[in-house]
Amino acid sequence: MELKFYTRDKFREKFNLNDSDDLFNEFFNWQINEWEFARKNYDTLKELKVKEFNFPDASVVVQFNPHRVGSTLALIDEKSIANRKCFLCDDNLHLEQKGIRLTENYTFLVNPFPIIPVHFTAKFNEHHPQKISDNFIEILEGAETLGEKYFLLYNGPEAGASVPEHRHFQGGTRKHFPLVNFIDEILSGYKSGSGLPHIKEEKNIGNAVLYSVRDTLRRILVIKGRDKKAIEKLFFMVYGAMTNLFPSAKETKLNLVSTMMNGEHLLFIFPRKAHRPRCFYAEGDEQLLVSPATLDFGGVVVLPREEDFKKITKYNIEQIFSDVAFSEEMFSALLTKL
Ligand SMILES: [Zn+2]
Repeated sequence: MELKFYTRDKFREKFNLNDSDDLFNEFFNWQINEWEFARKNYDTLKELKVKEFNFPDASVVVQFNPHRVGSTLALIDEKSIANRKCFLCDDNLHLEQKGIRLTENYTFLVNPFPIIPVHFTAKFNEHHPQKISDNFIEILEGAETLGEKYFLLYNGPEAGASVPEHRHFQGGTRKHFPLVNFIDEILSGYKSGSGLPHIKEEKNIGNAVLYSVRDTLRRILVIKGRDKKAIEKLFFMVYGAMTNLFPSAKETKLNLVSTMMNGEHLLFIFPRKAHRPRCFYAEGDEQLLVSPATLDFGGVVVLPREEDFKKITKYNIEQIFSDVAFSEEMFSALLTKL
């Protein structure tokens, strides 16, 4: 009988891969070949309509993606969660969907509703609610296992996660995520004073450094370093301060991105003030169905309705970000507390 889940060794054996082969890419391609539903959605992704909006120091690609309507409209209240089947639990995966063990506790799955050309989910092996303070180190470990080609992201339970009831990360190839490449530029130009978005060193533990980064749309914290324990300490300083200043029912609202660059960890923290922008709840012509999660913050804004895609303006983008991202006052208050 064909296996549903592979260890990395078993998968290498099956396809005669050696250590230098990109195991995750091989797995991804194999799933796309075998699993028609997912393949069709990845094919459609290539044809999607996109629009680009440029700001002096940031740019955003807006994507009309009807497959994402389920995530955009996902209900995350307790009653809705209790009444639905968890599609990340092993028993409820698609018949053709296979998994590969990413780390001891996580399974790598192809995401059948992609936003980017290689889009996967790293799900916890048990059904357990999303809460980053329970498992922070695992996003760093996962990114390390995946290697420099990839990133992992975390959507907080009240900050864009559509399945907050089952602990998971999403991820993809770094070259398809504008923010990560952009930040590389910012950090490498840090001392050049070249008119890049405002970046400032805030704190360090050993060689791990915490930066604040501001551009027209966003306020971001970035931690860079080799030592996972030091990064963890810096993260929990931020998390603790956010939780004190801006508590929320399940968890202070945040999104994370973790990747490796030149042998170092890079962690992005997007502090947020709201799960959804005002235009989501507006009526009639004022309404735009958009529910920003980490990818949107990183520069890929997803709109599942064509009418919204047609009418969205640069002004709307600014409004959406200012509704969900930290204001300057909130960001300064947070930095003062660190
Ligand atoms: Zn589950």
